[in-house]
Amino acid sequence: AVRHDVVIVGGGAGGIATAASLLKRRPGLDIAIVEPRDDHYYQPGWTLVGGGVFDRADTMRPMASVMPKGVKWIRTAVSGFAPERSEVILEDGGRIGYRALVVSPGLKLDWDKVEGLRETLGRNGVTSNYLFDMAPYTWELVRTLKGGKAIFTQPPMPIKCAGAPQKAMYLSADAWSRSGRIKDIDIEFCNAGGALFGVADYVPALMEYVARYNATLSFGHNLVKVDGEARKAWFDVTKDGKTERVEKAFDMLHVCPPQTGHDFIRRSPLADAAGWVEVNSETLQHARYGDIFGLGDGCSTPNAKTAAAVRKQAPVVAENVLSVLDGKAPHAVYDGYGSCPLTVERGRIVLAEFGYGGVLLPSFPTWMINGKLPSRLAWLLKEKMLPWIYWDGMFKGREWLAGPRILPMSPTAREALDACDFKD
Ligand code: FAD
Repeated sequence: AVRHDVVIVGGGAGGIATAASLLKRRPGLDIAIVEPRDDHYYQPGWTLVGGGVFDRADTMRPMASVMPKGVKWIRTAVSGFAPERSEVILEDGGRIGYRALVVSPGLKLDWDKVEGLRETLGRNGVTSNYLFDMAPYTWELVRTLKGGKAIFTQPPMPIKCAGAPQKAMYLSADAWSRSGRIKDIDIEFCNAGGALFGVADYVPALMEYVARYNATLSFGHNLVKVDGEARKAWFDVTKDGKTERVEKAFDMLHVCPPQTGHDFIRRSPLADAAGWVEVNSETLQHARYGDIFGLGDGCSTPNAKTAAAVRKQAPVVAENVLSVLDGKAPHAVYDGYGSCPLTVERGRIVLAEFGYGGVLLPSFPTWMINGKLPSRLAWLLKEKMLPWIYWDGMFKGREWLAGPRILPMSPTAREALDACDFKD
């Protein structure tokens, strides 16, 4: 098999940002990215497509245009791993070798876990901001709904951008407030979990909007079945340890699908018991293979699965991959940073920023943006700045506010390192 210095699985946020950070540090490094898609998506923009702010074309660029110069793009999918030989297996059975491997394939949207959903998605009032093709339909439904019942669902954790299901609700409700139709629309948020948001500090500000929009919060409600034509949805409702199936009629249904690790990851030796790429949560090095790193939505770290997290993870992975290539121990550390800009109304955002354990990690002084309160500046950040930071910062290896922390090894990282066998 051909052997590259670094092979990267996935040309999404994590794969492209890591390649850019590697090349910034070591121009000319031999990197190959394996990615089957022709287009790259800026998924954080889809909430604003569904809210009628962005055009969906703003959220897509040709894959060729985001590949950093000098990277070899292998235009196919990875189907498996042979870590003992330091090779990845491609869809057509071919193999490529690596000195270091970076795995960032994102996660799988498991539409089929909800009976009848795939058949009706994009019709009968059933939509999802989680798909490029579907986000414009959300806005179409919002514009045309005159009255009735609007349901927004959230599946069990973990999901990417945990705030996105409620962002869809707030922006829809805001549009209905502005057009005066909200009094005729009954809004319900059906969440499989038991809390509006995982970090309690942000909940009071969000609850004010729930009250303003007169939305009903239904916790322990897990969507399991949809009949689009009949406009009915079924939920497994868990209360006091008992689960029963409940039917609800809807006029609009915004679905956030259940999410898991990709099948090719789940059945590989790289996965943990839950099906995610098992990495050390600080160094992002694989728990069992010293020459493998993982980042992004597909890895096991317990941070908020966001592009914001990837922005901080990619420089850590780049730093540590180069250490391993040089025969040294990883020394850069990721603090679990992730961010969720909660679009509570058009023009205002509650900017949640936190690390492992829910520790608040604000990027701005409170007088600029107080994350616990709705902020106009945070909206401008989301609408005008973050797309640019993504395309022209992260993807060019410019690590504004995201330089890795280079720390002496923490005990857990040290242990993980000792457990790994290094090979070249
Ligand atoms: P992705 O960017 O999804 O990329 C994975 C890549 O791997 C894809 O290109 C895919 O084609 C490729 N791939 C898959 N399988 C294979 C294979 N077998 N072989 C090779 N390649 C493969 N984040 C924020 O920071 N802020 C937000 O406000 C925000 N809002 C969001 C709203 C929505 C509706 C959604 C869907 C996401 C949002 N996110 C947000 C999350 C953000 O988009 C992801 O966290 C980020 O894209 C993760 O990067 P990744 O590299 O792990 O995965």
